[in-house]
Amino acid sequence: MKVLVTGGAGFIGSHLVDALRAQQREVWVLDNLVVGTVDSIRHHLGGEGLHFVCDSVLNAECVDKLVAEVDVVYHLAAVVGVRHIVCDPLNAILTNVRGTENVLASCARHWKRVVIASSSEIYGRSDGRRLSEEADRVLGPTSVNRWSYSASKAIDEHLAWAYHRKGLQASVVRYFNSYGPRLNENGYGSVVANFARQALLGAPITVHNGGRQTRSFTYVTDTVAGTLLAGELPEAVGEVFNLGNPTETSILSLAELVKRLTDSRSSILQVPYEDYYGQRHEDTPRRCPDISKATRLLGFAPEVMLEEGMERTIAWCRAHYHLTPRSIPAESLAYLDMESRAGSLMLQPRDERDREEHEPATQQL
Ligand code: UDP
Repeated sequence: MKVLVTGGAGFIGSHLVDALRAQQREVWVLDNLVVGTVDSIRHHLGGEGLHFVCDSVLNAECVDKLVAEVDVVYHLAAVVGVRHIVCDPLNAILTNVRGTENVLASCARHWKRVVIASSSEIYGRSDGRRLSEEADRVLGPTSVNRWSYSASKAIDEHLAWAYHRKGLQASVVRYFNSYGPRLNENGYGSVVANFARQALLGAPITVHNGGRQTRSFTYVTDTVAGTLLAGELPEAVGEVFNLGNPTETSILSLAELVKRLTDSRSSILQVPYEDYYGQRHEDTPRRCPDISKATRLLGFAPEVMLEEGMERTIAWCRAHYHLTPRSIPAESLAYLDMESRAGSLMLQPRDERDREEHEPATQQL
């Protein structure tokens, strides 16, 4: 069995690659390394059974060649992370919609089965107690950049169903706040990475707007297990699945948990959204999946609970993050100035920080 994983050097993608290689699948990874890193798949490189192509899903010719090679496609490549979307909505919309269009068109051309990775962001600020796949999507105005991600993922899903109606074997999975080792340390992708880095540095843990908002944090191996099932089982074709851990956690209790597990001296600071996103922002007050459909049709059952998952994640962050005062997240810096003046921390010059903040994170092999 040959498999293509787009975004295979990314956070969830690289764990999916691990699982596929453990099943002895021959895997092609397509990743442009803008958000993903070669480090996350380095352990597979040079070995048989893993082919890495550094390119974008926007390169339709490249996508088509790779799709022709394989039996199944897992399409995970996307611009993700609320802050990435808010900073450059145009890039996010075009990458997410055109990339998926390219993948689906190729899969239809070569009649290859495909799983499209979507997101719980689809539900917008809908605050239903348990969000079933059929729940309404409740979005704010188009003047709030955040909602463009939800809209782009919804177009991806509509495209998948449109191709499915023409006979394509397509499935969609909606991820709920996946976390685990290899979370990008700059915090763009997840509150978990941000809190872990802040706590390990002893910097203030920045909780937005009271921290009463909830998320359903899902350990990455559970996310991957559901994704694989969606690409394997015949019952999954033409279906959409919530893949999440239905245990709801408030952001404030996540901050407290991270502080405890890291044994950190960090304070927990309440910060307005605007300090982080730099513009008018809307958030989702609660997000909890109904996973009964995934359980019934796929046998999906999350296994790793939050404390255990966070212990593993923090151990990885401790070993891999650049834990020097230079790497303190920008949103923590303002609150550290006082400590810095007191001589307890050496901070990076402001202009250097600004340059790094505004330069895209690109990496090369
Ligand atoms: N958040 C926070 N502090 C941070 C980063 C994020 O309180 O340093 C909050 C954010 O405002 C949101 C929640 O944590 O309410 C989850 O944010 P994330 O960006 O991880 O993903 P989302 O679930 O919103 O897509």
